[in-house]
Amino acid sequence: MKRYDFLVIGGGSGGIAAARRAAGHGARVALFENEKLGGTCVNVGCVPKKIFWNASRIAETLHDAGDYGFTVAGGSFDWRALKTKRDAYIKRLNAIYRDGLDNSGVHTVTASAAFRDARTITAGGEVYSAPHILIASGGRPLLPQVPGAEHGITSDGFFALEKMPRHVAVIGAGYIATEFAGVLSGLGAEVTQVLRKEKILREFDHDLGALVTAEMKNAGVTIAAQSQPTALEKNGGKIKVHTAAGVLGEFDCVIWAVGRQPNSGGLQLQNAGITADRRGHISVDKFQNTAAAGVCAVGDVTGRKPLTPVAIAAGRKLADRVFGGEDGAHLDYANIPTVVFSHPPIGTVGMNENDARAQFGAAVRVYQNQFTDLYFAPTGRKPRTMVKLITRGAGEKIIGCHIAGHSADEIIQGFAVAIKMGARKSDLDNTVAIHPTAGEELVTLR
Ligand code: FAD
Ligand code: NDP
Repeated sequence: MKRYDFLVIGGGSGGIAAARRAAGHGARVALFENEKLGGTCVNVGCVPKKIFWNASRIAETLHDAGDYGFTVAGGSFDWRALKTKRDAYIKRLNAIYRDGLDNSGVHTVTASAAFRDARTITAGGEVYSAPHILIASGGRPLLPQVPGAEHGITSDGFFALEKMPRHVAVIGAGYIATEFAGVLSGLGAEVTQVLRKEKILREFDHDLGALVTAEMKNAGVTIAAQSQPTALEKNGGKIKVHTAAGVLGEFDCVIWAVGRQPNSGGLQLQNAGITADRRGHISVDKFQNTAAAGVCAVGDVTGRKPLTPVAIAAGRKLADRVFGGEDGAHLDYANIPTVVFSHPPIGTVGMNENDARAQFGAAVRVYQNQFTDLYFAPTGRKPRTMVKLITRGAGEKIIGCHIAGHSADEIIQGFAVAIKMGARKSDLDNTVAIHPTAGEELVTLR
């Protein structure tokens, strides 16, 4: 049996962060990864997504260039060339993570880990034991149980595509569906986003989803609302999407983006007395403790705010608490900012208007403005930008900040800091604007 101070299952965002921080505190750490280091974010998530989002932004810029006085010879987009560069970059990141772990003194084991008991795991035919074990095994895309579902691909399959699909159905209404629909449309594909309900991004402030929907439609995306897919049927090279209302259409490619499921099934949780909910998310308290003493979980496998910086922050806080002598250290899940890399992007932090009104009633005040960013002054297309602040009570503490539009992805981080510090509307009013920017609209709202 190999003995350590800390065993980490999963070499993704949360696992690597926790392992390296713990090793920095002097712990003897082993980390188990059964696929590629970096996990979802690096290999099939944030990183490849952002590169393709950037490509579609460049396509928009090329489209606008003529209005800015440039003569741009009709360029074409080479999907395979970008994918080759993207894959090479990710390979470099895999190696950088490997070096980072090695340099921190973390022992990396390439194998699947499973519990023998709450102090012991097995991996690659060996047995490892430690007083502290972290589950950071992440998640994977969900394939719904409808006939022919396998004819569609998921986000993993999207990143493996060797050429751009021309006529695509993206099924789903959340982050991934909205991001992929925007990217593919921006790069020139004919895209239908298929929603089982009426709206996209229902978890977000309603004005954000409404603005992005309007702009996606203006950009040529078809939004098929109230269309619950009931089956996929493959016919030669085409895939037919059936819904309760009939056949929605035939596509070259169908992408399922209907949520993700936790990687908890193969961990033999029962051997350690760890409990999971109906969907397999591991239940944790505010210190990330599971039901088994000494075993913690962070990141997507817990189902709490499945975002990379959340997994990293929770992992580091945990290592600080267990090995760094910071007794009360834990991640505060309140006011976590997030961006949807849609077209245009969304940046948001805090409560949406409906939730705020439901919770605080008449104490809520909403400030909002819509405008066309100066960038679009000379261009033929005129996408709108929306900024919105939600405040509470006589002191007008800001409890929500929402932006949809050009640069929203870069603007929101600074406002998130202010809101986390407890900013009031008057603090924004007292901040001199930076002109001409979109961000200034948030300090000039009346
Ligand atoms: P993961 O990164 O998934 O890592 C878990 C690791 O554990 C995996 O490498 C897996 O192979 C390994 N593993 C699983 N079981 C075992 C086992 N039994 N033994 C050994 N190893 C095991 N978040 C953002 O913040 N911004 C974004 O822009 C963003 N874009 C995204 C785009 C897409 C398409 C997707 C799918 C996700 C995106 N996310 C984004 C979410 C983000 O990727 C995740 O929240 C993050 O990767 C979760 O980190 P984690 O450590 O919990 O899990
Ligand atoms: P989401 O939970 O964001 O969205 C999935 C949506 O699909 C649901 O909200 C639901 O919307 C719809 N849906 C569910 N089941 C079905 C079905 N059977 N048929 C049709 N539609 C269905 O999941 P994603 O997979 O998009 O993303 C997973 C997580 O990854 C996100 O929650 C986010 O935390 C993270 N992520 C973060 C990104 C970022 O930070 N930019 C980017 C990508 C992912 P409805 O109920 O309205 O029908």
